Amino acid sequence: MRLSRYFMPILKENPKEAEIVSHRLMLRTGMIRQQSQGIYSWLPLGKRVLDKVNAIIREEQNRAGAIELSMPTLQSAELWQESGRYEDYGKEMLRIRDRQDRPMLYGPTNEEMITDIFRSSVKSYKSLPLNLYHIQLKFRDEIRPRFGTMRSREFLMKDAYSFDLNQADAIHSYNKMFVAYLRTFDRLGLRAIPMRADTGPIGGNHSHEFIILADTGESEVYCHKSFVDFDIPAADTDFDSVDGLQSVFDKWTSVYAATSEMHDEAAFDAIGENDRLSARGIEVGHIFYFGTKYSEPMGAKVQGPDGKEHLVHMGSYGIGPTRLVPAIIEASHDENGIIWPASVAPFDAVVINMKPGDEGCDTTCDRLYVALQNAGKDVLYDDTDDRAGTKFATADLIGVPVQVIAGPRGVAAGEVELKDRKTGARETLTIEAAINKLTA
Ligand code: ATP
Ligand code: MG
Repeated sequence: MRLSRYFMPILKENPKEAEIVSHRLMLRTGMIRQQSQGIYSWLPLGKRVLDKVNAIIREEQNRAGAIELSMPTLQSAELWQESGRYEDYGKEMLRIRDRQDRPMLYGPTNEEMITDIFRSSVKSYKSLPLNLYHIQLKFRDEIRPRFGTMRSREFLMKDAYSFDLNQADAIHSYNKMFVAYLRTFDRLGLRAIPMRADTGPIGGNHSHEFIILADTGESEVYCHKSFVDFDIPAADTDFDSVDGLQSVFDKWTSVYAATSEMHDEAAFDAIGENDRLSARGIEVGHIFYFGTKYSEPMGAKVQGPDGKEHLVHMGSYGIGPTRLVPAIIEASHDENGIIWPASVAPFDAVVINMKPGDEGCDTTCDRLYVALQNAGKDVLYDDTDDRAGTKFATADLIGVPVQVIAGPRGVAAGEVELKDRKTGARETLTIEAAINKLTA
């Protein structure tokens, strides 16, 4: 992508409305634009990052055996009347009427709809386990939308729903998502800690929130420090192994971690002063086993091996991609801007032409640009007439992992400079060597 032809509306000044660093940087880099309160457009740079986050979420959901579909954003109120949640949901639900005066709503979540899909076609335990997910916009009329896309009214959610014959099988399905979440957040460059969460009226201890520690987080959290060293399950984890997944779950829930709602002061105090952490955190995911809460009122049953009808046991599993993007920035930035983990960076590298119009610089940059693109890299080529200082500041601000700097003196000697955004380390290489290194 040539910067001169791209759409990346950088702001020079810090936007006043932004209270936290991620919101400030997302506005300054032109990643998002607010359209009305808590409702955002994702501009091209932001869209690139969001797509990469979604791709990782998708890969890990698929690896764990979940199957993607797509459900609509608008739902009929009827389904929600069946489950009894239409009245309960309150003002967070955006209620709409169509031209026939039928009550509709903009979905805040999809348990009812997926249960309806399930009951319409699954009749036998032989079709289980089943886990269906989508990545779709949700709307919740939050009382206090704030911090940009961290807490917005319209937001993206990956929501998965599992169906099993009984509780034991449902726990295995839960553990699959637990492991998938550990892998997903790790690949996004984050250390997320699973914390026991409130299960509300359903009871049991099977709900976990995945929390990233950050000073600007809205949740108050308490945990043991040892989480920092826990191993992330490998890519070749056997998701069919009941005991294998249970042991990962047991390990990751073996030490204290809870949000304020579930906090047990005595248990926390029992941890040595040096090993405990009370901090603020951002909820990036939430998984839930809720048994027959929806299958019962909505009549979602399958025939079991005993020939009898059984209500299916369900769970739901959410991740917020549009919250994850700012969460990643909260975790990874410095005074000059964003520092993207390579896995979600909008571009793999930025080629900076220090003197457009200079034949040597132009030829060298063109060569680098083409070579990197041909190797399948996402490259931004700063071919604008901006001053060098502005180009460096922009490159630092947007946080692309590697900067390739081509100036007249260097290219005359057949050399370019590589700068690592994260460490600031610079090295001078021949053009050839630079291409080899960046395409390795
Ligand atoms: P919160 O406690 O932050 O309001 P929640 O518990 O209501 O969130 P869930 O129903 O558990 O949210 O939704 C699953 C995931 O969707 C959350 O873990 C979060 O990542 C994301 N999410 C929820 N609400 C929002 C929002 N208003 N803006 C952006 N992402 C959201
Ligand atoms: Mg939640």
